Amino acid sequence: MEKYVWQHMRRDEIAEMRDHGAVVIVPVGSIEQHGAHLPVDVDIFMAQTVALAAAQALAPDVPVLVAPPVWTGVSPHHMHFTGTLTLSVDTFSQVLRDIVTCMWRHGFRHILLLNGHGGNDQTMKAATLQLGAEGIEVAATTYWDLAAAELAELVEGERKKVGHACEIETSMMLYLRQELVDMSTAVKDLGIPPTRLPTGGAVYFWPVFDPGTTGVAGDPTLATAEKGKAFLDAITKNLAEFIRTFHKTHIP
Ligand SMILES: [Zn+2]
Repeated sequence: MEKYVWQHMRRDEIAEMRDHGAVVIVPVGSIEQHGAHLPVDVDIFMAQTVALAAAQALAPDVPVLVAPPVWTGVSPHHMHFTGTLTLSVDTFSQVLRDIVTCMWRHGFRHILLLNGHGGNDQTMKAATLQLGAEGIEVAATTYWDLAAAELAELVEGERKKVGHACEIETSMMLYLRQELVDMSTAVKDLGIPPTRLPTGGAVYFWPVFDPGTTGVAGDPTLATAEKGKAFLDAITKNLAEFIRTFHKTHIP
């Protein structure tokens, strides 16, 4: 069996992967409310799942290590709902920078932060900018961005990209962990994340899932396990392609 889970390996095995120029994927997520119908760990579970699937798809051609997941992120905008555990923006940035710095010091040069939570996106990218200014190069993406075109084709509902507890996330959860999903409480809500003013995206407002709202952005009622497999396959394929290219890229 191929080994690619960082925390299951011994130090010399990790060093050997480093010497083979392994790509390290750091799954980054969140613990936050996911509507009434999904568990609170969707984002970190999905980031870790697609990281492992890509590592498996690439073995043994491309050496990949999947790091321990960073299970909590930036979710103050979900705090009106029970179960959300958030870091501050500063703490989250520091956690990412410390972890990446350790990997860099151990000699890894192909490090990818693989995010599964929209609320982390800006802080994660700012952290990579800061690391870059310190001479540490790290790649960062949110997993659905790599497969955006294919996901849009596969989605049935009006919202063509990942929202929150939406058709895509719910379908993948039905495929992977149906026992944790309660479809009887799934509701369609295309109004979230709310903007206080209709700027069409020209002015950014931090979204807030207010009390009394559904906590959903999208249409989970259209979710099926079958679609979940298709979404997951598209994401895994695009992520694996990216990693193959990243692995060949020279990073001094
Ligand atoms: Zn999220």
